[in-house]
Amino acid sequence: MSAQLQPNNALAPLALVGHYVDGRVVAPAGARRSAVYNPAAGRPVREVAMAEAADVDAVVRSALAAQPAWGRTTALQRARVLFRFKELLIANVKTLARTLTEEHGKTLSDAEGELTRGMEVVEFACGAPQLLKGEFSESVGTGVDSFGIRQPLGVVAGITPFNFPAMVPMWMFPVALACGNAFILKPSERDPSMSLMLAALLKQAGLPDGVFNVVQGDKAAVDALLAHPGVAAVSFVGSTPIARYIQAEGIRHGKRVQALGGAKNHAVVMPDADLDAATEAIVGAAYGSAGERCMAISVAVAVGERTADELVARVKKRVGALKVGPGDGAGVDMGPLVNGAAQSRVRGYIDDGVKEGATLVLDGRGVSVAGCDEGFFVGPTIFDHVRPDMRIYREEIFGPVLSVVRAPDYAAAVKLVNSHEFANGTAIFTASGAVAHAFTRDIEVGMVGVNVPIPVPMAFHSFGGWRSSLFGDHHMHGPEGVRFYTRLKTVTQRWPEPEAVRADFAMPTMK
Ligand code: NAD
Repeated sequence: MSAQLQPNNALAPLALVGHYVDGRVVAPAGARRSAVYNPAAGRPVREVAMAEAADVDAVVRSALAAQPAWGRTTALQRARVLFRFKELLIANVKTLARTLTEEHGKTLSDAEGELTRGMEVVEFACGAPQLLKGEFSESVGTGVDSFGIRQPLGVVAGITPFNFPAMVPMWMFPVALACGNAFILKPSERDPSMSLMLAALLKQAGLPDGVFNVVQGDKAAVDALLAHPGVAAVSFVGSTPIARYIQAEGIRHGKRVQALGGAKNHAVVMPDADLDAATEAIVGAAYGSAGERCMAISVAVAVGERTADELVARVKKRVGALKVGPGDGAGVDMGPLVNGAAQSRVRGYIDDGVKEGATLVLDGRGVSVAGCDEGFFVGPTIFDHVRPDMRIYREEIFGPVLSVVRAPDYAAAVKLVNSHEFANGTAIFTASGAVAHAFTRDIEVGMVGVNVPIPVPMAFHSFGGWRSSLFGDHHMHGPEGVRFYTRLKTVTQRWPEPEAVRADFAMPTMK
């Protein structure tokens, strides 16, 4: 490893997490601040600046000034910066994971897993010269060739959620930068330090100042980005009401928008499934990261009463052995929720489920963690006999709560999944190739797993849901990411050979 790829001592989180403009952290224009918590301890550890329109304007101006030169840099040189960035991520992964766990709460191994999934998008974006190869048709007419080239949009912005402070920004900016855009990140105000760490590593990798900027804050920052004429496109990942708003506002201001929203992912368990394997898969997918994943399994649809009885018994036994504690604790399977509001909201949903008549098989409301009395913990929770009219079924809980719905047969299970408002991911557990084949054809959901509980597409495919889980025409990263962050120009050219070209006044057709 070369000296410059040694773990980086400049990544220590700041007491006040500021904006990042022109290659350095800058003081905010206004005085608004928000507390950033360590959710395992339940207390604030630092503050984050909350941008006003003036901060956003400075960030956009810097990006507008930097983008043209970056857009003209060869794709190969842009890829080389990303190759170095990837090596720096690897060299600093432990440091990054520690801060991620401190502010988010997820376990250290989960934080490292998140960073790995983000790095895979960087690896994909390192293929920029290949990804940006255009189309070419020779002799579309006599002496006429035609070709399509994909060019950057200019300055693009990414607005990201708290639950993947490293991976979701990396779904966006590696591809945007590889395509020659300047990128502005507006991270979640709940775990903002990662944004500055990524910015520091990009600079160290050789990215020119201004090509990657960060603006911290909330709705005020988002609204200023949406309205700013210098921003050409907005990528958003977060909850559905905000995704809907971002799409409407972005389009109103003439921007290209992709807005990924919430989820309620169903796992259908068929009577012929390997129940031990299905149980392991569902427990990991339901309770990993305390259920704060957009691809978490929050509903198990058991086909047949016997399947349901056996599945619930196995999940209960397995979940009872999970260790809840601080994300950096030894042997911990599940950390806290991100803040006190999330903890109250999830407990409220469990209260509702009981009131609406679902069977509470395991109750996480009273969980306590030694030494973390103020932490935002909710233990793993299981509801059985959940009905589609119940609030715990209809709404996204975003916590460690698994609802089991009993379906009489395959057709009823598919109808249930296809009727839900959200359609991000789904999975089927079965031993039948024919059933799996029918499921992948019939199911109306963006990402589908067959005996795979969290079917997150690899970086070279694209990520996105259907219905209220995605607003816009493009999924994220992979080929769709390249399409989103570029616009197509089609050139038709003739280089006349020595004989004279004469004007033709008829509608041009290729003879
Ligand atoms: P959120 O919608 O509260 O926040 C997302 C971003 O929007 C943040 O940067 C936040 O500052 C900003 N924001 C919040 N309120 C706003 C407003 N009124 N106007 C403008 N901007 C606003 O989401 P969250 O709680 O940070 O993240 C959890 C949600 O994200 C869940 O619903 C989860 O399913 C979803 N999510 C979806 C995916 C996906 O791929 N579909 C991935 C991760 C998370």
